[in-house]
Amino acid sequence: MQFDSDYRMLIGGKLETGSASFDVLNPANEQVIGQAPDATPEDLDRAVAAARAAFPAWSALPIEKRREYLNAMAQAILANIDPLKRLLTSEQGKPHADAEADVGGAAFWLMGASSLDLPVVVNEDSDERYSETRRVPLGVVGAIAPWNFPLILAAFKIGPGLLAGNTMVLKPSPFTPLTTLKLGEIIKDILPAGVLNIISGGDNLGPWMTSHPDIDKVSFTGSTATGKKVMQSASATLKRVTLELGGNDPAIVMPDVDVEKVAEQLFWAAFGNNGQICIATKRMYVHKDIYEPLRDAIVAYAKTVKIGDGSEQGTRLGPINNRPQYERVLDLIRDAKEKGYTFLMGGEKSDVPGYFIPVTILDNPPEDSRIVQEEQFGPVLPLLKFDDYDDVVARANATEYGLGGSIWGNDEDKAFEIAKRIQSGTVWVNEVQHLSPTAAFGGLKQSGLGVEGGEEGLLEYTNAQTLVRKKRAAESAG
Ligand code: NAD
Repeated sequence: MQFDSDYRMLIGGKLETGSASFDVLNPANEQVIGQAPDATPEDLDRAVAAARAAFPAWSALPIEKRREYLNAMAQAILANIDPLKRLLTSEQGKPHADAEADVGGAAFWLMGASSLDLPVVVNEDSDERYSETRRVPLGVVGAIAPWNFPLILAAFKIGPGLLAGNTMVLKPSPFTPLTTLKLGEIIKDILPAGVLNIISGGDNLGPWMTSHPDIDKVSFTGSTATGKKVMQSASATLKRVTLELGGNDPAIVMPDVDVEKVAEQLFWAAFGNNGQICIATKRMYVHKDIYEPLRDAIVAYAKTVKIGDGSEQGTRLGPINNRPQYERVLDLIRDAKEKGYTFLMGGEKSDVPGYFIPVTILDNPPEDSRIVQEEQFGPVLPLLKFDDYDDVVARANATEYGLGGSIWGNDEDKAFEIAKRIQSGTVWVNEVQHLSPTAAFGGLKQSGLGVEGGEEGLLEYTNAQTLVRKKRAAESAG
C-alpha cells in the first residue's frame, strides 16, 4: 500500500489542505518530497475550537471506552506500518528498520498507555465525612513534537492525554510533518471528530499555540532553549506545562566489562538514530585500565557501519535530519579541530548531497571543551578517560542537563550504586534508552519539567479535584 502525496491537516474530523504550504525535504538528497499545509492563526483557532467542542462528550466517556479508542488507533497504525515507515524515512532520514521501530513504537505506546488508570484516593471515610481526591481532565492540550522521533514522541502525548479525557491539538516539527499528517488521515474515522486535531506550520505556529487563550496545557518535547520560551509564553494564561528537553547523557564504563562484547552496544548507545536521540550517550567515560582496548574496539566496530540513504538496503545510519542541525554539528566539529583535539575517525563533512556527517569519535578531549559540554545531537562522541569514581561522578553531574545516563560493568551492584549518584531522570545499568509507557520518564535540572509515562505522566494531564461529603448521620448525631 502507498499513500497519495496530498498532505492535509485534521481539524474537527475533516481533512484540510490549508491556504498555504511549505516544502518538506528528504535529508538524504535535499529533494522536495511533499508540501505540508502552513497553518494560519485562524486554522489554529478552528482546531482549538474543535477540540473544545469535542471535550464534553470525550471527557464524559467511561475510561474503558477511551482505552478502546486508543487501541483502535494503535491497530490502524500497525495496519499502515509499511507506508508510514517509508514516508518517515524519506522525511526524517533514518533507515527503514529504525523508522519501523518509530511507527511500531507509537502503536505500542498507545496500547501501553491505555493500560494505565486514574487513581481515586480516599482521604477520609469516617462517621462524619467522606472525602476523596479524584482526577479530572484539563481540557484542550497543545502537543508540540520534535523531528527526531516524530511518531513515537507524538504517541507519548496522545496516549495519556486522551486517556485522561482531554482533547488535543498536535503540531509536528516543520522538518517532519508528513508522517504525522498521514496519521491524521488514518485515525480520522476512528476517533470522534475534534478529539485529536493535527496541524502543521512554520516557526510561528508553536508560539501561537503556547500563547493561545483556549489551550489549557502544553506538552512539549524539544530543545532546552525552546522549552524556556514555551514556559515563558504559557505563563501568561497559567497553562500547565510538561517539558521534555535536551540532554548530555554520560556513560560510565567500569574496568570489569567484557571489552569486545560491550563495544558494539556502546557504539549504538551513542550513535543510534545518528546520535539524534535525547537520551543518546553524548559523553563516554571509560576507566583508564581498559581505555585503549575499548577505544580501539569501538572504532573498529564503527568502521563496519554503513552510512547512507535510509531507504537503501543495509544502511544503518542515515543523514542528519535538517540543515540547521547539520550546521550545529559541523560547528562543534570545526571547533574541536581548531582546538587541535585528536580525532580517532570522522571529523570531515561528506562531499555527497544530503546532510551526511561521518561517524566522528574523539580521543580524550578536555572536559571543558564544547564537544563535551554541549549537546551534540549528531554522530559525534568524545571518549574520556577516568580513574576515580568520585571524580567521574562529579564530571558526569557537572552539567545543566540531567536527562539520562548509563553505567556499564559486570559488578552490577557496584554499577547500581554509582547509578544512584547520577543526577538524571533515568539511569540505566548495562543497557540504555529502554523506556516504557508504564514508567515515568523525564529530565532533572534543565532537561525538563514533569514526566511522561507511567501514572505520574498520566496525572500531568489532569487536575486533582477533592470531593468532600458531610454525612447526614453525623449531623443528626450532632
Ligand atoms: P526544537 O526545540 O527546535 O523544536 C521542537 C518543536 O518546537 C518543533 O515542533 C518546533 O517547531 C517547535 N517550536 C520551535 N520554536 C517554538 C516556540 N518558540 N514555541 C513553541 N514551539 C516551538 O527542538 P528540535 O530541534 O525539534 O529537537 C531536538 C531537541 O529536542 C534536542 O535538544 C533533544 O534533546 C530534544 N528532545 C528531547 C526529548 C525528551 O524526551 N527529553 C526527546 C526528543 C528530543
